[in-house]
Amino acid sequence: MRNVVIIGSGPAGLTAAVYAARANLSPLLIEGWQSGGQLTTTTEVENYPGFAKGIMGPELMKEMRAQAERFGTDFLTGDVTAVDCKQRPFTITVDADQTIHAKTVIIATGASAIQIGVKNEARLTGHGVSTCATCDGFFFKGKELIVVGGGDSAMEEATFLTKFASHVQVLHRREELRASKIMQERAQANPKITFQWNVEVEEVLGSEEGKVTGVKLLDVKSGKSSTLDVEGLFIGIGHQPNTKVFEGQLELNPNGYIRTYNGTRTSIPGVFAAGDVQDSVYRQAVTAAGSGCMAALDAERYLEELKHPSHTLPPVEGARAR
Ligand code: NAP
Repeated sequence: MRNVVIIGSGPAGLTAAVYAARANLSPLLIEGWQSGGQLTTTTEVENYPGFAKGIMGPELMKEMRAQAERFGTDFLTGDVTAVDCKQRPFTITVDADQTIHAKTVIIATGASAIQIGVKNEARLTGHGVSTCATCDGFFFKGKELIVVGGGDSAMEEATFLTKFASHVQVLHRREELRASKIMQERAQANPKITFQWNVEVEEVLGSEEGKVTGVKLLDVKSGKSSTLDVEGLFIGIGHQPNTKVFEGQLELNPNGYIRTYNGTRTSIPGVFAAGDVQDSVYRQAVTAAGSGCMAALDAERYLEELKHPSHTLPPVEGARAR
């Protein structure tokens, strides 16, 4: 029986682990097979406080993990395949065969890149289609590339890809970017980046050998289709929260993010959520880390309350966090 089980190893999960470990709660952190969260697929992080010269995303995550380990966090590598929050103690199943019981659970499973959902996109992923410029940009030295999207992710990917590509074309479905001013300006000032407005990707085109050769585009204003020859397509259209295993267990917002009350409390007392899995607004490493800290403090207080002789546990089913 664990006091605290943390699911997820991004900034939220690891910060929760640092705080829970320093509160002598001997947390267990379950890290997926791709540990470290989204920052492991980023290059330079310039907006995390404390690093005046910036720090590489993977390096930052390595430091956070070492810090959590230093204070006694136990780590388990595996994918959480099932969770039972409907009875206490809570049960977490890892890789379908390992069962862990916990008094409290902190969910910090983050969010994943969204796909466009067009023909050949899934088939050619890893063969010219990518959602991670940092991971795959290196393979496109001197090539013509496309980035789909108009938000900060798309601007960041496009700017990063100019380190390798001969030219990057940003395709956006409207004529106004969603990205922050500074990211827009950086991309627009880059001589290797051009923009094509009011276009949607209708289909990814591939060769017989299974490599991207281009995209079929739809001009949403004129309704005309055209073809663009490229060898690489990077999709930067946002993320969705990783909440599949919690569906039917916890209240989710209409957009699928875990609903939190009063800090990091979920609809079930004893279950807390931190980071991008419950935050569709800020989604920053520093806000994720901050909410990881909050979740650990909330879990610690909840465990203290349990020790009180007059404390009676609220019912799990249908309960709402106080
Ligand atoms: P986002 O802000 O939701 O932007 C998604 C973009 O993709 C939008 O321009 C959207 O178009 C477009 N899009 C969505 N679905 C599409 C589809 N099916 N086909 C074509 N285009 C589609 O997502 P994000 O850029 O990932 O940013 C998410 C959050 O993370 C933001 O708060 C952002 O500030 C933050 N972030 C920060 C940094 C940084 O500071 N370094 C880097 C990355 C992200 P519409 O505009 O028409 O809706």
